[in-house]
Amino acid sequence: MHDERSRELYDRALSVLPGGVNSPVRAVRPYPFFVERGDGAHVVDADGNKYLDYAMGYGPLLLGHDLPQEVESRVQSRLADGPMYGAPTEVEVELAEFIARHVTSIEMVRFVNSGTEATTTAVRLARGYTDRDKLVVMQGGYHGAQESTLVEGKSGGVGSPSSDGIPEAFAEETITVPFNDEGAIREVFEERGDEIAAVLTEPILGNCASVGPVEGYLETLREVTDDHGALLIFDEVMTGFRVGGLQCAQGKFGVEPDLTTLAKVIGGGFPVGAVGGPARIMESLAPTGEVFHAGTYSGHPLSLTAGLEMLRYAAENDVYDHLADLGDQLRSGLADVLEDRAPEYTVTGHDSMFKVVFTRDRDARLANSADVDAAETERWERLFWPAMREQGVFLTPNQYESQFLSYAHTEDDVEETLAAYQNAL
Ligand SMILES: *Cc1c(COP(=O)(O)O)cnc(C)c1O
Repeated sequence: MHDERSRELYDRALSVLPGGVNSPVRAVRPYPFFVERGDGAHVVDADGNKYLDYAMGYGPLLLGHDLPQEVESRVQSRLADGPMYGAPTEVEVELAEFIARHVTSIEMVRFVNSGTEATTTAVRLARGYTDRDKLVVMQGGYHGAQESTLVEGKSGGVGSPSSDGIPEAFAEETITVPFNDEGAIREVFEERGDEIAAVLTEPILGNCASVGPVEGYLETLREVTDDHGALLIFDEVMTGFRVGGLQCAQGKFGVEPDLTTLAKVIGGGFPVGAVGGPARIMESLAPTGEVFHAGTYSGHPLSLTAGLEMLRYAAENDVYDHLADLGDQLRSGLADVLEDRAPEYTVTGHDSMFKVVFTRDRDARLANSADVDAAETERWERLFWPAMREQGVFLTPNQYESQFLSYAHTEDDVEETLAAYQNAL
């Protein structure tokens, strides 16, 4: 496999971009391949190597790399009318209506520009609405690069920042608990329930090997937050309009949060984010309320047009059925491969999300981040990932990040992928 051109580009990148990248996860060792273009379910790199792509932009590309003709032409005609205005446009109303129609917990939406901005805004909104400061998050959860959630610590205790540059004071307001641990969350609420503004969690830990909720856990979060006047925020930046189809993961699991954050899929591959919820909470945002949020690019017409047209396409075609079927085919095929090659490993995922976790024994519990941390992270990253790349399969480059099927993937692609796993494991 030739990679001279990627190597050369990375050499230049190291001089002008810290670590040669604009997001740390892309800094694959020894150096990443630079992508030249996407093609359906594949990407082609700068040296002409073609990979079957399961990173899919880390989630936004529900349909793969080629936009359907009608989506592409709407985006292009939008672009021809000028990129943005700083005044409202019809597409903002249309996409908000689409989301509110399909996600029962959402009446109103505020569009922002990234998942990080969505969770930042949701946390500020929850604090402003409840007039409380404390936030509860899950260990191993991910809510973007924001001060209040880049926190680590022991269960139920005051956390410390997980990044330099974050004042301790932020972390002091954030309590971490292990996902799927009912006892831990109940204990935190018994001790300080009346100080807690919100519990913020992904319905599935998408940035922690796609670990899903155990039966009853999301219901427990709903119950304890209700009992103590705190809000429940589902971070559906990854799962929104991917897991559970148009009703999102909250519909699939049957638990309604107070606030939802969305991003990734709803921008159709363009930068976007959103906070959604009932009017009584959402109207606490400026200009109707006192919680400030603003943005030059908020509700960007190009992102929203791409997102709306892609979601309409998904609503009118068999996108989610296809993805659920392929996901089942892939996960059950992987389970068979593991049975044969590595019976101690575990397949995770729902619908079009999937991962193989290198757990150390067959009966390893896989319920939260401590369980994933205990698996063979180095082997995954240093030996397995490169072996898959060598066979032309592009997985997300570590054991933690979820992988994604797209509407462009086929049953043949899945068979090819299973053969690659069989060889690499
Ligand atoms: C990707 C992600 C974010 C951050 O979104 P960005 O658009 O990268 O800022 C937040 N929460 C979850 C669950 C995510 O998967």
